[in-house]
Amino acid sequence: EPLANKIAAGEVVERPASIVKELVENSIDAGSTSIEITLEEAGLTSIRITDNGNGMTTTDAMRAFERHATSKIVNEHDLFRIRTLGFRGEALASIAAVSKVHLWTSDGISGTEVDIEGGKVITHRAAALRQGTDITVSQVFFNTPARLKYMKTIQTEIGHTIDLVNRLAISHPAIAFRLAHGQQVLLKTSGSGDLLRVLSDVYGIAVAKKMIPFQAENADYKVCGYVTLPEMTRASKNYMTVLINGRWVKSYPVNKAVLEAMHTYLPIGRFPIIVLQAEADPYLTDVNVHPSKQYIKVSKEGELLAAVREGVHAAVKKAII
Ligand code: ADP
Ligand code: MG
Repeated sequence: EPLANKIAAGEVVERPASIVKELVENSIDAGSTSIEITLEEAGLTSIRITDNGNGMTTTDAMRAFERHATSKIVNEHDLFRIRTLGFRGEALASIAAVSKVHLWTSDGISGTEVDIEGGKVITHRAAALRQGTDITVSQVFFNTPARLKYMKTIQTEIGHTIDLVNRLAISHPAIAFRLAHGQQVLLKTSGSGDLLRVLSDVYGIAVAKKMIPFQAENADYKVCGYVTLPEMTRASKNYMTVLINGRWVKSYPVNKAVLEAMHTYLPIGRFPIIVLQAEADPYLTDVNVHPSKQYIKVSKEGELLAAVREGVHAAVKKAII
């Protein structure tokens, strides 16, 4: 079976938040310490990302929009050692195929400006040097419905993007994030590296002040994070964030283990606000099970869940007594 078949195909242009996710992950992979996201009409009109990362060489900037031109996977072995967020080399190609892209990038040696339409490079020229990348994607979702429905759509789409950027900021406390919708700033983090400070920026200082730390470890997994006590809960699971080796993932089993660990204290239908970081040998995790890279397969899952239950239970019990 060819390697390509083992790599699930990506559907990356489903909604504005999906595009923001791919672009911001590229900025993170490029080692950025500052990432600014500016949306017009919830990203339905345009999405602009400015970072201060490594940038691209002129050659790479011209090729970045070709499918798999830059895939970081060389062999099957690599699939188990993925540390970067992107690895299939198809996000930019998929986005560019259905939009207008303006890219400005500089690796500190050369600066390049490129315009791409329908996946083809239309113009390119040398540009100013200032290390980083500035990419604007527009005209992706030009098929807009009637006004009233459109306004509702705007609310829904901006909600998805806020949730996404919140989670990415939580996953990367050392990166300063700024999310703006037109003139309105929706999130700003300092990049200080302090997770509690990011939690304060995202959920408010009242929540952050009430979060208690937890930790546990066994031979395979190390688990730590912050959780709210039962009096500070939400009616939705959307405030539960799981990071495995720094990657935000959706894990029903981990969420369930957290709820089990707290269940004698939690009111029915209420969920904690929690950030749970799990670290393991990358060989124990496989992120290539879903195109969104948001679901992860872990070996020795029982060990992970045991550490989660132990860490959360001990911290909550101690804080309550
Ligand atoms: P992948 O992230 O899977 O490698 P993408 O299509 O998302 O594929 O990006 C293609 C390539 O373009 C990346 O591998 C990277 O080399 C380059 N690139 C994209 N965005 C940036 C950025 N913000 N800064 C530096 N390089 C970037
Ligand atoms: Mg990528």
